[in-house]
Amino acid sequence: MQNLQDTSESLISRLHQNTKLKIVITTHHKPDGDAMGSSLALNIYLKIIGHHVSVITPTDYPRFLHWMPGHEDVIVYEGHENKCLILTHEADFIFCLDFNNLNRINEYGTVVRTAKGRKVMIDHHLEPEGFDDYRFWTNEASSTCELIYEFIKKAGDTELITKELADCLYTGMMTDTGSFRYRGTSAGTHRIIAELIDKGAQNSLIHELVYDTNSLLRLKMMGYVLFQKIEVLEDFNTALLYLNNEELARYNIKTGDTEGFVNLGLSIEGIKFSVLIIDRTKLVKMSFRSKGDFSCNDFARKYFEGGGHKNAAGGQSTLSLEETVQKFMTVLQDYREELNQV
Ligand code: 5GP
Ligand code: MN
Repeated sequence: MQNLQDTSESLISRLHQNTKLKIVITTHHKPDGDAMGSSLALNIYLKIIGHHVSVITPTDYPRFLHWMPGHEDVIVYEGHENKCLILTHEADFIFCLDFNNLNRINEYGTVVRTAKGRKVMIDHHLEPEGFDDYRFWTNEASSTCELIYEFIKKAGDTELITKELADCLYTGMMTDTGSFRYRGTSAGTHRIIAELIDKGAQNSLIHELVYDTNSLLRLKMMGYVLFQKIEVLEDFNTALLYLNNEELARYNIKTGDTEGFVNLGLSIEGIKFSVLIIDRTKLVKMSFRSKGDFSCNDFARKYFEGGGHKNAAGGQSTLSLEETVQKFMTVLQDYREELNQV
């Protein structure tokens, strides 16, 4: 793997030379397939080599991931603050997966920042904040799951990969690559996938569990979005979709239910930039996707306190939904030329 920032040598020695280390694994809020896959895979691995491991997520995660091996032991910070505080402050190591800025884990970020345990960042997003003591980072990996595989390989332990661990890694690599179609998908990604299938990963079943478990109401919402809600801003080759509280309530939208909606806009011919804006009551959440050279990461960072990858990023706003849409339209004006280049 090129451009890997790797300071994990002494960490791996400590993991091998000791047992019963107290370890916390955490990942970003509203965890997706890669966040859960990498956390649960590392959880299995570290337990196999003899450590005490807890997985803490800042918030809940989508229902379509509730089948994942080990998910029943995950502790959600929201609602279990004290337990998480104790576990985190007692931990020798805190692994931070699939994020690189402590603002991605909400209030739990302060707990992690003040904990005495060593922090390990394993991640593939742009521009790490630098809170980590050890890192295993490159923005060239398809997913954090791919990096977990590389980490286990570096530790010389690939023979310890069980069927369950392979299922976890497969899930994150599949979801973060849009089922192996995005640019970050390399020959190396496919080689790892082949090995995971050799180790028992249930590739076809995992696609079904993640993508074919829609509720009828979610499909109807998608129909509504496609028929009435996606707007094309022709002058900017941009697709815009926003949903208010009433619409989310009408379709009983839960965590993960709007996942993929931003890609619907991007699938229109000629569209280079797609945005989804959702009113999450406490704040307005935004998802950005692009094709080609337009940087969602730069855009999200500059205007909406966010970030991510070049072609996929997220952000937020404390303005109202309407004001956020207005702000988006205003700042977009500066990108007319860039979005019209071939
Ligand atoms: P999504 O649109 O699926 O929520 O996120 C797209 C990508 O951007 C993911 O890799 C996600 O981790 C990252 N991301 C989403 N929201 C934020 C945010 O508010 N800040 C940062 N730094 N990254 C985000
Ligand atoms: Mn990821």
